[in-house]
Amino acid sequence: MRYARPGTDPPRAIRHLFEAQRDACAAERYPSLKVRHDRLRRLAALTEDHDQEFVAAIAADFGTRPAQETRLAELFVIAVGIRHARRHLSRWMAEERVPTPIYLWPGRSRVLRQPLGVVGVISPWNYPVQLALLPALAALAAGNSVMLKPSELTPRTSALLDRLVAQYFSESEFAVVTGGPDVGDAFSHLPFDHLFFTGSTAVGRKIALAAAANLIPVTLELGGKSPALIHADADFRAVAPRLMTGKLLNAGQTCIAPDYALVPSGRVDAFAAAMRDSAASMYPSFRDNPDYSSIVNDAHYRRLVALIDDAVQKGARPVSLDPDGAGRDEQGRKLAPTMLVGVNDSMAIMSEEIFGPVLPIEAYNSLDQAIDKINARPRPLSLYMFGGDAQVRRSVRYRTTAGGVTIDDTLWHFSNENLPFGGIGASGIGAYHGERGFLTFTHRKAVFIQPRMSLTWMLRPPYARRFERVLALLKKIS
Ligand code: NAD
Repeated sequence: MRYARPGTDPPRAIRHLFEAQRDACAAERYPSLKVRHDRLRRLAALTEDHDQEFVAAIAADFGTRPAQETRLAELFVIAVGIRHARRHLSRWMAEERVPTPIYLWPGRSRVLRQPLGVVGVISPWNYPVQLALLPALAALAAGNSVMLKPSELTPRTSALLDRLVAQYFSESEFAVVTGGPDVGDAFSHLPFDHLFFTGSTAVGRKIALAAAANLIPVTLELGGKSPALIHADADFRAVAPRLMTGKLLNAGQTCIAPDYALVPSGRVDAFAAAMRDSAASMYPSFRDNPDYSSIVNDAHYRRLVALIDDAVQKGARPVSLDPDGAGRDEQGRKLAPTMLVGVNDSMAIMSEEIFGPVLPIEAYNSLDQAIDKINARPRPLSLYMFGGDAQVRRSVRYRTTAGGVTIDDTLWHFSNENLPFGGIGASGIGAYHGERGFLTFTHRKAVFIQPRMSLTWMLRPPYARRFERVLALLKKIS
């Protein structure tokens, strides 16, 4: 549904759609397992029947986006999420039996997992299908209706989502609203039962404020600077390809990409050399390489170039990983990866999320100092740790705070549906994936069932010695 047409009133049109979904939820407050399975089956068909269209739309939006990266990081991840949800849905939906304390015997206690109602999802451009459909999948599995507002920066993909969602779902089950920040702003002011946002920390703040006005619970999946901590005993030849893969997938435009590397001082040059060799073996060139994504638009391209230039001006040494030596192709928005050695906190690149193929290398003298550096910055979405013995790894895991961690590799914690995915502090609020996603969009309703025979009458007025004796007894036995 497109609301950017002149003459249409976005807030009114979106509100109309919202009310239709709210009415549908009121008419069916607890969709059956069969209904939910059917919705997930249709979601799977929507992506599987049109996989080539998604690959083409995303490639057209980016300029270059390798089909393999779209198939792996968008379509495969969605297929895995749907399969996992369908396999476990009946268990997730089941009432939970919880213990009842002795003083409430012979009563019984349950937790009913109830849909919230109408869920709003706002998604970004960097993985424009996966980050739109994974939250929608969790919300549909939990029995909700979904309104999705995808990014305006990937317009062909958003238009395709709009068309296909309308083809596979009724408007009251799942609907798409397209448009830019103005539409997003109107969208975020709707009285949803839950608002799920993936995007920048700056816009996340606005979403939280808009939702607070209506007392709407939010999940905020935000970004930040995810460190890669390289221990002194790490084998750089083994580290480099794994770190490079995480950094250069989608040309670094990945929320959980390693943002900067912490490397033992004295070993920075050896590390940079290993990274250069690794990049060369994966990407013989960058400029015309179909395996290497473009930067999504001119503004982001210029932003990245400005970050590099600012760091170099302030004393950082750039190490280009481009074997052609060209480094930059402004027209194709191809930015060859650059490492920056000798960075410090006065450089914008050490305070802003990079979200591109630039890797600052920060030297550290001791593990404690590296941990202190991580903890002094806003809490990251991910943390990567390479090398170290079991004790060191445990120490890093327990002494740092991050949304998620992968040890000896990058990104992969995201792809396990049994692990919750989400940030903490500036990198986000709440989580999803697997059962955690189902619960994000579920109200766990407390239910206590009092049998006909119950002893609680002994605690009723008129309060006298009986009350005191019973309370003393309850204290003793509970
Ligand atoms: P963005 O915040 O600019 O936009 C995200 C969405 O919000 C878009 O749909 C946009 O139209 C909408 N929007 C913009 N202004 C709005 C407003 N005032 N009110 C309501 N909606 C508004 O983010 P982006 O540039 O699309 O994405 C990049 C950011 O997303 C990075 O910071 C990245 O780290 C983060 N990200 C996080 C995750 C995660 O899972 N945690 C995943 C991908 C990206």
